[in-house]
Amino acid sequence: MPKIELHAHLNGSLSQKTLQKLIDLKKTKSGINAECDLKIPCLTSRNLSECFKVFDLIHKITDSLEAIYMAACDVIEDFYKDGVHYLELRTTPKENCPFFTQEMYIETVMKAIADTCSQKCKGMIVKLLLSIDRNRTSRYAEETLKIAERYFSLSSCVVGIDLSGNPKSGDVECFFPYFDYAKKIGLKLTIHISEVPDNFNEVEQLLKLQPNRLGHGTYLHPQKGGSFKNFKLLQDLEIPLEFCLTSNVISKTVSSYEEHHFKLFKEINYPCILCTDDKGIFNTTLSKEYCLASNHYSLTKEDMFNLSYDSINYIFSDDKKDELRTLWKQYIV
Ligand SMILES: [Zn+2]
Repeated sequence: MPKIELHAHLNGSLSQKTLQKLIDLKKTKSGINAECDLKIPCLTSRNLSECFKVFDLIHKITDSLEAIYMAACDVIEDFYKDGVHYLELRTTPKENCPFFTQEMYIETVMKAIADTCSQKCKGMIVKLLLSIDRNRTSRYAEETLKIAERYFSLSSCVVGIDLSGNPKSGDVECFFPYFDYAKKIGLKLTIHISEVPDNFNEVEQLLKLQPNRLGHGTYLHPQKGGSFKNFKLLQDLEIPLEFCLTSNVISKTVSSYEEHHFKLFKEINYPCILCTDDKGIFNTTLSKEYCLASNHYSLTKEDMFNLSYDSINYIFSDDKKDELRTLWKQYIV
């Protein structure tokens, strides 16, 4: 079945095979000074503390443009092999002084996208979202927005902005002027929202920004502890939700697949999109997420196809929607 992936972080999507390739590259480049602790942590239960050890490793082995290019190419190819025709990859622009700037980082990822889509993954459409980490200062947000604006006007690759990071910290209101500006110039906006309980005021403020999509929304539904006021606001705005089943279960923001809020939103016909979040960290694929949804929420083949087909409505590249709908219709037998 053809699929759309709209919530995938570049670093968290690296497979074990790619991690090993990047470790080998790092060791080759470092020569005799190679770090000895570059080993993929043994992920037995894949609980959150084990997952964070993988992020520490990823940080160490993606410190060159060559490694970043290799990582981005591999992730795109993984999604392609899993039947993803349209991918929105998100990443926080990084710098590694004096080797590369944030602009060089983004240009490298864009080159990986262009090369992979014209060679190994012909026909695939890949777009880029630049992530703003809510735990960083507003100066970082401003810089990220400037880079996004620049590449948005130069090419059709960068299509939007994402707000991510530890939901328990950071003051998101300082970023609001940047989000308003992003929307004004035509960049789309997706926000990680309501991943932890209780912060109803912040959730309300974020909803009022009217982002184009929302990530997770774990505590938005009143039956999951969300406020009725915010739920009503959400229903009025009809902002599509990006659901990441395995990510939420492993990181324990949701106790089980059966208890996942996707079930409740699907039952009320709310706009839902299935996504992976960090497919490498959580050892999943988009196909697996569809299978899990089918098994746990009794979705038929037709339900799954419609879930995938309707995701086209929520992509950030408006000019690609007709092309994708035509392609999807070829799969209807
Ligand atoms: Zn995420």
